[in-house]
Amino acid sequence: MKKTTGTDRSITSNWRPATRAVRAGTWRSEQGETSEALFLTSGYTYDDAATVAARFAGEAEGMTYSRLQNPTVAMCEERIASLEGAEACRMQATGMAAMTTALLCQLSAGDHVVAGRAAFGSCRWLVDTLLPKFGIETTIVDARDNSAWEAAIRPNTKVFFFETPANPTMDIADLAFICGLARAHGITSVVDNAFATAALQRPMEFGADVVAYSATKLMDGQGRVLAGAVCGSAQWINDVLLPFQRNTGPNCSPFNAWVVMKGLETLDLRAQRQSENALQVARAIEGRVPTMLHPGLPSHPQHDLATRQMDNFGPIFSFVVDGRAQAHAILDALELVDISNNIGDSKSLMCHPASTTHANMGEEGRDAMGVFEGMLRINVGLEDPLDVIEDLDQALGKAGL
Ligand SMILES: *Cc1c(COP(=O)(O)O)cnc(C)c1O
Repeated sequence: MKKTTGTDRSITSNWRPATRAVRAGTWRSEQGETSEALFLTSGYTYDDAATVAARFAGEAEGMTYSRLQNPTVAMCEERIASLEGAEACRMQATGMAAMTTALLCQLSAGDHVVAGRAAFGSCRWLVDTLLPKFGIETTIVDARDNSAWEAAIRPNTKVFFFETPANPTMDIADLAFICGLARAHGITSVVDNAFATAALQRPMEFGADVVAYSATKLMDGQGRVLAGAVCGSAQWINDVLLPFQRNTGPNCSPFNAWVVMKGLETLDLRAQRQSENALQVARAIEGRVPTMLHPGLPSHPQHDLATRQMDNFGPIFSFVVDGRAQAHAILDALELVDISNNIGDSKSLMCHPASTTHANMGEEGRDAMGVFEGMLRINVGLEDPLDVIEDLDQALGKAGL
């Protein structure tokens, strides 16, 4: 296979992001295909015994087994790293496989982790339930409160783990402050960037060490596959993440990586358009609902911070109505927008986090996080925003708003 200029960092790093999204990481076979090839293979064959021996010894380049390398997955990994401004990336089967791998590969019993309170439900489960089972101490802080991060540091603190914007409260964490604090204390910052993606926010520009993804969301963008990715320095990926990943096997399938790679070609277009659509929808209903949580609106308490660290605000926002019954009534009245807990999709989707994604936290945990009974989260898709606004208008009306 011919590695085209799309894999040469000295060339791709001069390309602007839109060009990298379409061309970075492209390897071409002797067929000269325009669309990257899908290698659905678990193993590889060799011309002679010396070739395979050299590859296993790490003395020659080349594939040996798809848990270790696969050409299609490698192409997508190069493209993601290029968009992120990261030296290296490895893909995993799901966003949660990515988060689990990013944490477990570097933690040992006796270490301490500080994590943001508002987070995807399963990310909180990792911190609250899984890590302590293996003797790893954890502290939860309000990610918006810079001094809380500082106060939580202990001599054995190894990792800061947080997402921004946070799911589903739309809390914004100060990337430059938190990642800078981590660096100053020799702590590794791990940022879950699923809500924004590199199209809208690049945490490494603010000093993040590791950026982890659910590629299921805006990267695929059409609700087709589950996938995850972890980006970091070449040294961290090779020395810390890879030994864990190769031996535990949370790998992404070549088919899913191929779908994500094709999704990346339109990521910027979709992220920008869906951001604009979401802002238009949020503005249209802001006066109708008791509380609006959209970081792009001046009413959001961290609007200035969001403006400083994001290029645009993404397809997702939340709002709070009067309790679960009214929230469910709105969902049940929708005619165009689907009831669905997925996000990042080109279809507009709405969900009630308290009874779905954050149900297993219990009401007390949800209240502490700011996931109220009347909260609804919407992912605004690529439909004409006027149709989405009309649908919300009639649904809010039927629910008495
Ligand atoms: C969806 C999501 C995850 C988990 O990703 P999966 O691909 O569903 O495993 C993790 N973090 C955030 C912020 C998410 O939105």
